[in-house]
Amino acid sequence: MQRKNTGSEAAENVMATVRTPDLGLDPDACVMPEPSDPCTIVILGATGDLTTRKLLPQLFNLYLNNGLPDPFLIVGVSRVDIDEPEFRSRMQAALKNAGNYEKTRWLSFARAIHYRTADFTNLESFKHLAQALRDLNQQYKTNGNRIFYMALPPSVYKSAAHLIGQVGLADERQNGNGWSRIVVEKPFGTDLKTAIDLDQSLSRDFTEHQIFRIDHYLAKETVQNVLMLRFANSMFEPIWNRRYVEYIAINAIEELGVEHRAGYYEQSGVLRDMFQNHMLQLLALTAMEPPSRFEADQVRDEKVKVFRALRPFQVKNLTENLVLGQYAAGAVNGNAVCAYREEPGVAADSLTPTFALMKVNLDNWRWQGVPFYLTSGKRLDQKLTEIAIQFKSVPHSMFRHTLSETIPANRLVLGIYPEEKITLTFQTKNPGATVCLRTVTMDFNYHQNSSSPILDAYARALLDCMLGDHMLFWRQDGVELCWKFLTPILDRCEACDDQAELLHFYEAGSKGPKAIEGIT
Ligand code: NDP
Repeated sequence: MQRKNTGSEAAENVMATVRTPDLGLDPDACVMPEPSDPCTIVILGATGDLTTRKLLPQLFNLYLNNGLPDPFLIVGVSRVDIDEPEFRSRMQAALKNAGNYEKTRWLSFARAIHYRTADFTNLESFKHLAQALRDLNQQYKTNGNRIFYMALPPSVYKSAAHLIGQVGLADERQNGNGWSRIVVEKPFGTDLKTAIDLDQSLSRDFTEHQIFRIDHYLAKETVQNVLMLRFANSMFEPIWNRRYVEYIAINAIEELGVEHRAGYYEQSGVLRDMFQNHMLQLLALTAMEPPSRFEADQVRDEKVKVFRALRPFQVKNLTENLVLGQYAAGAVNGNAVCAYREEPGVAADSLTPTFALMKVNLDNWRWQGVPFYLTSGKRLDQKLTEIAIQFKSVPHSMFRHTLSETIPANRLVLGIYPEEKITLTFQTKNPGATVCLRTVTMDFNYHQNSSSPILDAYARALLDCMLGDHMLFWRQDGVELCWKFLTPILDRCEACDDQAELLHFYEAGSKGPKAIEGIT
């Protein structure tokens, strides 16, 4: 089987005209909610890659769009002993690198940025940090509301979270505290056992409503649009099931290699990096039942039901449903690139998979018999994220005497990257006196007729955390169900005898290992 792609390459394109009827709605009202209460955002791991590439640029983005509360504070915390001017100048450079630097607004934004040094394993050091945060709160009147963003290596999450608790900063509405929230970055553990263990550690000091497990994929505009498309239109729901859908393909592939993250990736591989979180979330959004209300817990309840319906893999026959690959040397966009094993920080005999195609089934009424093909990988022929719904062919071709026996079936593609758009492929008559069909696609470009600024996924996630909205964050039961599904697969894949046998090498810049053709 080829990677399940949009299949619309041969189709002619017709641009859909988007008309926005005047319903008396203020388009600006959709752009930014009212800012939250005043708060302090404490970034633990403030000298790291995530802070400089994502968190600070997106906080500034929110500031430019009036999304931050008044007052707000950002306190960077790391082990490195630097002073505040030095930290601010690093953050200024980060904004310039990210391309959203604006000098006049920066000067006022910079006044809200502070820096403290702390040792993430030392109680005394955290006592000093707690005092510093209380002093800043007194000075700037942020109502004792705090977000602790764990931009730290996962190995440090537990000790840092517990130290926050030990110095009294996790307690809400006591000792001068307002609300207290903790944001945890993926990975949420490395298997079921470690995920439970991490949760038990966090739960010592924080309750579930204080914990925000971030999955930035969920905060992408077009990912959120999946639910709007499905449940704000009556025409899709009746055909969104096993009677009309042949299969669903979810692809999240990229041209990039492991870049500078070999240390993390060698431990994680594609299944932990992409499947436990992003891929299964995209599956849940595509497959879930409509919740009765668009509220965080109701939406997450429905997602959890999808995870419960995941059919466990027959690990003895893993190759029937799973292809794993690792990129060999090749060329991407005409540039020669090295093999994964030659990347800095990667073992010369590494068996870490950088590609996976997984055929997943859901054992429930709606989806019985409909395969979901989930594909993710590095160093492939393109960067693409999309969900493709392949409908069944027409049951009877009344055109078969004049046209060919088979007519291409309809396909609806929800494009997430590079283009945020919805594409419907269908058949029409070719203009002219003879009876000919042509396959056309109709595109809706997500940004058409809209001049609203689009928030980056991290900006949206930060905003929701300030507002206390859990909709776009993982709940622990979902995390555990996904690990419960994946852990036996990982155990089998990582068993010494099988590891090499299961791994297929593919040329960088290709569509992935040839073995994907065996998955039907
Ligand atoms: P980095 O290694 O770049 O930064 C880690 C930060 O943690 C540094 O500021 C480091 O600063 C600090 N730190 C504190 N204690 C330790 C310790 N014991 N060992 C090493 N560093 C320590 O990591 P990233 O910024 O890339 O990632 C942070 C978290 O975000 C990770 O959990 C990662 O999985 C997750 N993540 C990152 C993404 C990204 O794009 N970077 C994307 C998705 C998730 P100092 O040494 O000064 O104390």
